[in-house]
Amino acid sequence: MPELEYVQENCPKCGFTFMVPEAFPEQRRKDHKTFYCPSCGSGIWYPADNEEERLRKQVEALRKTAQRERDRNSIMFSNLEHEVRVRTGHQGQVAKLKKRIAELEAQ
Ligand SMILES: [Zn+2]
Repeated sequence: MPELEYVQENCPKCGFTFMVPEAFPEQRRKDHKTFYCPSCGSGIWYPADNEEERLRKQVEALRKTAQRERDRNSIMFSNLEHEVRVRTGHQGQVAKLKKRIAELEAQ
């Protein structure tokens, strides 16, 4: 049976230092469960996001950024499409006018 390794834990309330199994702080960072100071009995927990939660939030933020970027591009694309339609419409009119002028000149 492997020997348990212990690490130091400090009570933020009374400053008492005590030893806990090595895996203990990691588990509490994962589940954010409260444990209690053996000296003053006040609850201790890790409110900060653990690695997995941080990564999940980062992924979520990136996904939102990507979505915004896609939305922006699709708006820009439809604006561009509209612009092209307007311009080709004008070009069509110009072509018609040129043709008409050419016809008149030929008479
Ligand atoms: Zn304490």
